[in-house]
Amino acid sequence: MRYSGGSAMAKEMSDDAAMQTPVMRQYFAAKEAHPDCLMMCRIGDFYELFYEDAIVASRELQLTLTARDREKKQPMCGVPYHAAEQYIQRLLRKGYRVALCDQMEDPKLTKKIVRREVTRVLTPGTAVDASLGAEQSNWLASVAASGAGAQARVGLALLDLSTGEFRATEFAGATAWAQLSDELGQARPAELLAAEGERVGGASSGLLPTLRDETAKDGAPGSGGETVKDGAPDSVPDSLLDTAFEGVRTRTELEDWVYTAEYAVPLLRKQLGVLSLEGMGLGGHETAALAAGALVHYLQKTMQGGLEHIDAIRFYAHDEGLTLDAVSVRNLELVEPLFSGESVQTTLFHTLDACATPMGKRLLRATLLRPAAELGEIEERLDAVGEAVGDLRGREGVRRAMNGLLDMERLLGRVALDSAGPREVMALAGTLGCLPGLREAVGKFKAKRWRELGGGGDPSHVSESRHGAPGKLSSGISTEKSTGICTGFDAMEDLHERIVRTIVEEPPVSFAEGGVIRAGVDAELDELRELGRSGRQALAAIEERERQRTGIGSLKVRFNSVFGYYLEVTKANSRSVPEDYERKQTLVNAERFTTPELKEYETKILTAQERSGEIERRIFAELRRQLLDAAGRMRETARRVAEIDMLACFAHLAALRGWVRPEVEESGVLEFVAGRHPVVERRMEESGGGRFVPNSISLEGWMGGSTSQVSESRPGAPASIALITGPNMGGKSTYLRQAALLVVMAQSGCFVPAERMRLGLVDRIYTRIGASDNVARGRSTFMVEMTETAAILNTATAKSLVLLDEMGRGTATYDGLSLAWATVEHLHEKIGARTLFATHYHELTLLEERLARLKNLRVTAKETAGGIVFLHTVEAGAASKSYGIEVARLAGLPGAVIARAREVLKLHERAETQQVGAALARGVGEIAAPAMQMTMFTPLSQKIVDRLAEVDLDGLTPREALNLLAELQRELKNS
Ligand code: ADP
Ligand code: MG
Repeated sequence: MRYSGGSAMAKEMSDDAAMQTPVMRQYFAAKEAHPDCLMMCRIGDFYELFYEDAIVASRELQLTLTARDREKKQPMCGVPYHAAEQYIQRLLRKGYRVALCDQMEDPKLTKKIVRREVTRVLTPGTAVDASLGAEQSNWLASVAASGAGAQARVGLALLDLSTGEFRATEFAGATAWAQLSDELGQARPAELLAAEGERVGGASSGLLPTLRDETAKDGAPGSGGETVKDGAPDSVPDSLLDTAFEGVRTRTELEDWVYTAEYAVPLLRKQLGVLSLEGMGLGGHETAALAAGALVHYLQKTMQGGLEHIDAIRFYAHDEGLTLDAVSVRNLELVEPLFSGESVQTTLFHTLDACATPMGKRLLRATLLRPAAELGEIEERLDAVGEAVGDLRGREGVRRAMNGLLDMERLLGRVALDSAGPREVMALAGTLGCLPGLREAVGKFKAKRWRELGGGGDPSHVSESRHGAPGKLSSGISTEKSTGICTGFDAMEDLHERIVRTIVEEPPVSFAEGGVIRAGVDAELDELRELGRSGRQALAAIEERERQRTGIGSLKVRFNSVFGYYLEVTKANSRSVPEDYERKQTLVNAERFTTPELKEYETKILTAQERSGEIERRIFAELRRQLLDAAGRMRETARRVAEIDMLACFAHLAALRGWVRPEVEESGVLEFVAGRHPVVERRMEESGGGRFVPNSISLEGWMGGSTSQVSESRPGAPASIALITGPNMGGKSTYLRQAALLVVMAQSGCFVPAERMRLGLVDRIYTRIGASDNVARGRSTFMVEMTETAAILNTATAKSLVLLDEMGRGTATYDGLSLAWATVEHLHEKIGARTLFATHYHELTLLEERLARLKNLRVTAKETAGGIVFLHTVEAGAASKSYGIEVARLAGLPGAVIARAREVLKLHERAETQQVGAALARGVGEIAAPAMQMTMFTPLSQKIVDRLAEVDLDGLTPREALNLLAELQRELKNS
C-alpha cells in the first residue's frame, strides 16, 4: 500500500510537538525515518500509535481511539505489548507495514527518559507468520527492469523467507510485462518490491496499481464501496495488470539506486557467499540478479540478521511448464475458490491434497499452478505413480514413513531466524529421524523417478536394483535446485545424531531453567551442575539445622530472583530469631533473613547457574551453526520429500478412486472417454447429491499453420472447436472446466477420473468467463472480458487449450454475438487451438456448416411432469432453440404469452435463416452486413422479451395479463 499522508502529517505535527514531551520527539524521529510504516511505539506496557497511524490502526483492529490532548487533536490508540504479536499479524495480513519502536533501556534502571529506537520493520513479505498456512508459500517478490520495447527485460526474484526458497527468472521482449503479470498472478506474493521510478511502458499509471483499492476492499466495514478510480475515464490499460496484481497486497518502492548493477549484484554475491552468480544459473541474467540483489537489500534494511539460510538462489525458466495465466488460475479454482470467502472445497488443490507433509502440500500447490509441459518429465512422474498404484504395500510403506514428518524447511527457517528454541530443534530431530525409513520405503520401488528421488547415497543400494543404471542415476538427478551437494537421498543421520546427542529428550521451552543440554556433552557443564546440586543439598541441610537450632519448625530456605536466597520466618516466630541473622525484608506475615553462610552458598549456586547457562547457550549456538551449515543439504532433502509425497499422494488417490493413467503424447489430441469433473464429483459424493454423469470429448488442435483460406467442409475431419449450447444449468460450464482440470492433472503427473484419456501436450490453458456469469464479483465489466479475450487471440497457439464460457454476454445482444462469431472464426482459421466454447447465442451453431473443424455439442434436458430435468449428458448437435420458452411454460407463464412467444420465435428464426443463409452464400467477408440488418428486427423483440422477463406473475390479475398481452401485440404490429 502507499501510505502517503503519513510523513507530511508527521512533519506538520512535529513542529508543535517539538515543544512537547521528549517521548514524542523520539516518536517523530522514528516516524520520519519510516514514513511508510505504522509506527508502534513502546510506552510502558503498551505499543502506542499516534495521529494518522492511530486512525488507521483503530479502524483496522477495531481499537478505541483516544487522544493525547484535551482538544483531541492528537489521536492515539494502543495495544498491550504482550498481545502485540497478534495485532501486528492482522495488520500485516491487511497489507500494512509496521515498525516497532522499542525501549532500548530498562525503565527501572534509568532516571532519564528511556532511549527508544526502531528495532524491527515488519512487512507482509518478510514477517514470518506462525499461522501461515502450511501449504502456502509467503513470497516476497522483487521486480527489476531494463531496456524497452523488443529490448525490454524484466527480472523477477521470489523469496520465501520462512523456508529460504529463493528463485529468480527473467522475461524478455515486447510481452515481458504481460508474462510478468502471469507469473505474479500465480505466485501471488504478499509483498512486491520495485524501484521508485519504474513505470510500465511509459504509461502514466505506476508499475502496479496503487493498493488503495485493495486496502479499501478488505478493510473496515464501510470502506467497501470506495473502490472508485480517480475521476479521469482512463484506467483501460490497467485492467490486465489489475487482475495480475490482485493478489499483491503490498507494494514497496525502493530508491532507484538500489536497482543498479554496481550495488545490487555484489550485495547478492556477498549474501550467497559466491564470487560469481554463474553457478546459480544467473549468468547472463543480470536483470534477474538486480531484482534478487535489491531483495537482499530490503531484507537487510528491515531485519536484523538471521539471513544465514538464504545461501542459494535458483534461476528458473518460466516457460518450462504449462502456462496458466492469472485469470485462468482463478476461473478454474485451482487453489482458491472463485469468490473469496467461499469454501476451499471447490478447489482442485483441496480435492487432490492427500499429502502427508507440508512440503508435499506446497509442491502440489505449485505443481497445479505450473504443470509440466515436457513429455519425458510427465512420463517419468506417471511411471512412478503407476508403479505405486499397483503396489499397495509399497505405497502404504512410503506414506507411513512420512507420518510425523514436520515442516523441515520452515523449522530450518526458524533456526536461521533465531526464533527456534530447544523444542523446535528437537522437533527437527524427530523429523530427521524419519528420513532413513522413508529412504528405505522408497527404495523398494523400481521406477526411474523413485530411484532418483530415494536413491541411497551408498552405491550398494543402487546396484541392487535390477533395472539399475547406476551410472545414469546420479546424472539423472536434477542438481539445478540444489547447489550440487549430494547425489542420493541424504537422510542426514549425522545431523540427527548430533541433535539427539546434544539436547535432552524433553527439553524445556527456554534456557531460563537450564537443563537443555545433555549430561556428558561438556565436562565443565557437568561439573557446574554437580556444584549446583550439592549447593542445593547444602541449603536443605542448612534449613534442617536452623530449624533445630531456632526451634522454628516452619522456617524455610527460599529463593527469589530479586533477593536471592533467604531464610523465611513467620511474624509469630520472629522473636525466636537468633542474633546472627541479618534482616533482609519485612512482609505482612513474615520476615526474611540472611546469614554469611547462606550468602556464600548463594554466590556459589548462582555463579554456577549463570556459568552453566552460558555454556548451554554456547553449545546450542554451535548446534544452530551446524544446522545452518547443512541448510543446503536439508533443502535438497526437503525437495525430494516433497516430490515423493506428491507422487505417493497421486498414487493413493488413483488407487482409491479408480483413476486411470492418461496417455500423454506429442500431438494435438484432447480425448477423454467418460471423464468426470474431479471436484464436482467429489462434492456430490460427499453431500450425497447423486451421481456425476460422465462425459466424453474428442478434439484435435489444428497444426495446419496460419493460412487464412476458408476451409471447405470435410466430413469426418477432427474438430478443434466444440460449440456447446443448451439450457441454463445444463452443465456447460462444468463440462468446460472438467476438460481443463483433466489436462492440468495429467500434465502434473496425476491419474485422471475417466475411463480413458489421450492428450497431446498443451502449452497454455485459457479460461474466460463472460461478464454476466461473473457479475457477483461486481468488478467485471465487458471491457475486462474483451481485454482477456484479446490476450487469448494474441497469444494462444495451436497447442493451447481455450475455454470460453458465455463470451459476449456483457453487451447488447448483437454486438456480443458478432464478437463471439468473429472470435470463433479467428480461433478456427488462424490459431487452431483446441477450444471449448459454451454459449447462449444459438445463432453460433450455424457456424458448424461453415467451419470444417467446428462441431456442435449440446447438454441435454428432459421434460417431465415435475418440470425440466437436466441430464447433464453432452451429445452431438445443437440445442433446441425453444428451451427458453419451454422453461417459461414450466414456470407458469400464461398460455397465451407462450403461444405468442412461439410465434415471435418463428418469425425471428425465419428472418435469421434468410439473413445468415444469404451471408453463407456470400462468404465470410460479408457476414457483418446481414448481422446489421437483423438488428432492425431485433431490438423490438428484445424489448418484448425483456418485458416478459420482468413481469411479476404472482402480482398480475388475469385482466392485467390480458392487457399486457394486448399491449405487446400492439407493439409488434406497429413495427
Ligand atoms: P451451465 O453452465 O450449463 O449453466 P453448470 O455447468 O453451471 O451449467 O451446471 C449446473 C449444475 O449442474 C451444477 O450445479 C453442476 O454441479 C451440475 N452438473 C453439471 N454437470 C454435471 C454432470 N455431468 N453430472 C452431474 N451434475 C452436473
Ligand atoms: Mg455456465
